[in-house]
Amino acid sequence: MQENTMHLPKGYMGKVLFVDLDLQTYHAEPLAPDLAARFLGGRGLGIAFLFQHFSRLEQNDRYRNAFAEVDPLSPDNPLIIATAPTTGTKMPTSGRFHANFKSPLTEGLGSSDSGGYWGVALKKTGYDVLYITGKADTPIYLVISSAGVEFHTADRFREANTRDTTNTLAAELPQGARVLTIGQAGKLGAYFASITNDKGRSLGRGGGGAVFGAKNLYAIAVVPDRSITIEVADEESLDFKNESGAAFKAKIKLEVGKFSRKEEHYGSLSSMGSLCLCGMVNNYGQLVHNNMRDTYHKPEDIERITGEALRQHAAKAKPGVTKVKVKKGTCYSCPILCKRKTQLIDGEGNLIDEGEGPEFETVALLGANLSIYNLPVIVQANYWANRYGVDTISLGGTIAAFIELYEYVKSQGNAASSQEKQLLEDTKTFIEQYGEPAFGNADILAPLVHEIGNLRGIGKYLASGSYRFCERYGHPEFSMTIKKQEMPAYDPRTSFTQALGYEMSHRGACHLEGGYTAAKDYCAGYAEWPGDRIEGSALISKNAAFSNTVLDIIGACVYSSFSITLDEYALLVNAVTGLSYNAGLLQKTAWRTLTLERLFNIRCGFTKNDDWLPARFFEIPVDTGERIAVCNRDAFEQMHQEYYQSLGWDEEGIPTQDTIHKLELQDFV
Ligand code: SF4
Repeated sequence: MQENTMHLPKGYMGKVLFVDLDLQTYHAEPLAPDLAARFLGGRGLGIAFLFQHFSRLEQNDRYRNAFAEVDPLSPDNPLIIATAPTTGTKMPTSGRFHANFKSPLTEGLGSSDSGGYWGVALKKTGYDVLYITGKADTPIYLVISSAGVEFHTADRFREANTRDTTNTLAAELPQGARVLTIGQAGKLGAYFASITNDKGRSLGRGGGGAVFGAKNLYAIAVVPDRSITIEVADEESLDFKNESGAAFKAKIKLEVGKFSRKEEHYGSLSSMGSLCLCGMVNNYGQLVHNNMRDTYHKPEDIERITGEALRQHAAKAKPGVTKVKVKKGTCYSCPILCKRKTQLIDGEGNLIDEGEGPEFETVALLGANLSIYNLPVIVQANYWANRYGVDTISLGGTIAAFIELYEYVKSQGNAASSQEKQLLEDTKTFIEQYGEPAFGNADILAPLVHEIGNLRGIGKYLASGSYRFCERYGHPEFSMTIKKQEMPAYDPRTSFTQALGYEMSHRGACHLEGGYTAAKDYCAGYAEWPGDRIEGSALISKNAAFSNTVLDIIGACVYSSFSITLDEYALLVNAVTGLSYNAGLLQKTAWRTLTLERLFNIRCGFTKNDDWLPARFFEIPVDTGERIAVCNRDAFEQMHQEYYQSLGWDEEGIPTQDTIHKLELQDFV
């Protein structure tokens, strides 16, 4: 722990903005240098504030264990949004910011990252962290500027979706204002509702949108003050024209990667967007299929939804059919340009709809995992998911579980239990209107998104996520979740390092938090690691988790890490802050963050039993085309123990006292 005489390094604005929605008041407090030194920013600062918040709730005797007892949708659950010292500087991809809360989906740590421009604008109002508590009596939205916080009634946005709220506020506010908002899903309390910023970016995972909505908070607009600058320690090193500077070198590495790497490697992020991953993941036999029962896709099917297909869709579309027109987009200070804006054009050339996306995970979960190989259908569903404000990974995973459960119950005929038959009853109206849930039935996708986004019909049960949905009918085993959060696009049987990443993610199954090993293998051109190798996998996973946590605490995009090393990130952080980080010190900060997240979940009631993949992955082998892959419980138990040990956690997965001391976390526990 550091002394209180410390000063904040450069890069920080130095203030935390506290907003109390109960009283509709706000005040600023200095950002404690000690916290900044220990956690740096973003996800690190976020968990520090979140942990302290729940600890404080216990001091007033209302809770014995606030972590476990606080209802995520109650006013006592805070919403903490943290930027990093590098946010808004010339560090490439420095538009990131992070949200923390207790998740309604997992009932543990809520933690989600986003890019775009909103975080930069927040910082240019003069604050590093936004800390929201309480609940407004009626719907409101906030306008934050350097002059303070305005509280406005949001009655007119009761029925508005994320796009309309954003457009309306952006038109009314001074130029440069950025909007963070929720859609119907968040207002109505869908457990996997997302928070949308800059119209098409999302704090997607864990149900932050429902926390937002439960506070009667519909939007936060930030109006950057052009007179506010983010002071950095070494302007010269961050000058893109200075060829020996850290920023120039990082940008050049990203640019060179973009143009010189083979399409099937990192360069395709720019030319195809994140959907470039689709073909690669499928080539490795990893792409999820039919609620993760297998990974087999017919070549003639999969080639209709890859990055190549998206890029060429408009050019190759036959006359008279709907086509997807695509153009590039980007986030603040990012030369990679992986974002995609698309338009749906009908056979006569008329615009049907337009919006952001699709991203790879969306196509994988709303397409491949449902056997829907129709890009316009997926793109349209994606637009609606964005407007209702739902996480498309959880959305697709929940729909897949619903279809498999429905098929199972139907196959039981008269032998189905009354609990199972309830599903047929609950689904009756939907089927009468739209048809039967089935893999490959593209006609049900958009209607299901509407039902879930509005929490109506079968959608009101689906909106609680696949685990609770399947549990309602007696079959939680059909839910492909870890810690009740749906799994992303990479089948864990085919990559044990990625599988461990899913299992150990504190926010629930996540391809990023636990280290993005599956994609890095092929995008960054790393030596190929046998997917089912046990020896060494725990260590690789741990290192990958450290690296990705570093990205979240320094405020960099995961895709930049396909080119930039931790040592190079350290140089960038040092140029901003004036500190002396190296890769090891950044990793130690990541270790501290991961360990505090672990402690948070333990206080919420999580144990090592929550660190497991669903049974399917241990019981049903998958044929990747090159090998038969399946997880093995004994091997995974061994890897779990190695993983815990490498982080200084005991055999129960609990950080030891020694580790807590080493990481200077005593004041938290
Ligand atoms: S790589 Fe893509 S997601 Fe990452 S910062 Fe750049 S545009 Fe945004």
